[in-house]
Amino acid sequence: MTRHDAFRTDRPPRIGMLGGTFDPVHLGHLRSAVELREALALDHVHMIPAPQPPLRDRPQVAPEQRLALLEAGIGDTPGLSADGRELARTGPSYSADTLAELRDEYGDAARLVMALGEDAFARLADWQGPERLFELAHVVVMTRPEHAADDSARLRELVGAREVASADALMAAPQGGLLRVTLPSRMAISATGIRRRLQHGESVRYLLPDAVERAAVERRLYRTPHPPR
Ligand code: ATP
Repeated sequence: MTRHDAFRTDRPPRIGMLGGTFDPVHLGHLRSAVELREALALDHVHMIPAPQPPLRDRPQVAPEQRLALLEAGIGDTPGLSADGRELARTGPSYSADTLAELRDEYGDAARLVMALGEDAFARLADWQGPERLFELAHVVVMTRPEHAADDSARLRELVGAREVASADALMAAPQGGLLRVTLPSRMAISATGIRRRLQHGESVRYLLPDAVERAAVERRLYRTPHPPR
């Protein structure tokens, strides 16, 4: 936790987890985390880089450096932290294992929320043991301007009757629900677009936090195309 957090004592803690590659972290991630925290009145949001996400190509920048950029990007933002717990794991990192750790730390009554964008949600049925995610947490899907997609049949089956219509309905239980949210500042910013811009020497101003932009430009990150696996 950070020194900025003031957890409320009149109700169970409300904790968010936003996992991702963060290759690199951008303002779409950070603004979403801030607005998610407000929309659900979360006490804290853990932003957790995955060393090697199971369903993706190898990230271009090493996990420790992505974590350092995330820390720099968050700076002193209240209620957000860069959480490096998955970096200590060997092998692929599974979100369910991370949620199980958070559940242990915050207790059975905590309202635990795994947040993800529509693009990541569209592939949720392919994750390992996706039902376990709902046994540990709520799932909150954030709409993304450039990523709208219909749910697949497998995803509809996984979601079943879990979907609720409001944050209050979600927070009535510690886990097991699904909520779709459209946050006020939906941003069409993606790490793919940023890597492409940096590779071509184009401006990334106002897409990244200043500190992340400075580090990326100074260290010439993402200047070369992705190396072959
Ligand atoms: P890439 O373009 O490399 O796929 P990304 O920009 O989607 O990267 P990730 O690190 O993969 O970034 O994203 C982590 C999580 O944040 C995912 O759940 C993703 O859907 C979500 N996310 C990323 N960008 C945004 C955005 N602009 N608005 C809302 N959610 C986002």
